Amino acid sequence: GKLSSDEVNKAHLAEEAIKKYRNTSPTIFSKIIDKSLPADIIYEDDKCLVFRDISPQAPVHFLVIPRIPIPRISEVTESDGQLLGHLLVVAKNTAKKEGLVEGYRIVINDGKNGAQSVYHLHIHVLGGRQMNWPPG
Ligand code: C5P
Repeated sequence: GKLSSDEVNKAHLAEEAIKKYRNTSPTIFSKIIDKSLPADIIYEDDKCLVFRDISPQAPVHFLVIPRIPIPRISEVTESDGQLLGHLLVVAKNTAKKEGLVEGYRIVINDGKNGAQSVYHLHIHVLGGRQMNWPPG
């Protein structure tokens, strides 16, 4: 059938985001996305992937990543907004599926001072124990 103007706008934003990041160098997460590196994937859809962190910092620790290689949160723009919102909703849905009924922590590390080590945007979700504040 016909696309609504909202669908057309959404498709346009997705196209822009793909173009914007097309020259980004691949990271280890690109290999998880293309399945050339195994990972414990617990959810995936057309826009994102969720897998357990290889070095968990809590009883439950998973990462939500976009399929397109956005390097870091400090580089996103308005056209990424829809996708970023989706990643957060997926983080919340997966936290629920993982049984994190007492709460959890969501973290995005950015750059050197943020202690980012993989330059493919990822949302950490940590739970299953009491988290502390301030973080290290
Ligand atoms: O936020 P930061 O860039 O430091 O986090 C990267 C995360 O990716 C780390 O928690 C690391 O354990 C995880 N990782 C992973 N699987 C890999 C490589 C890194 O889960 N193959």
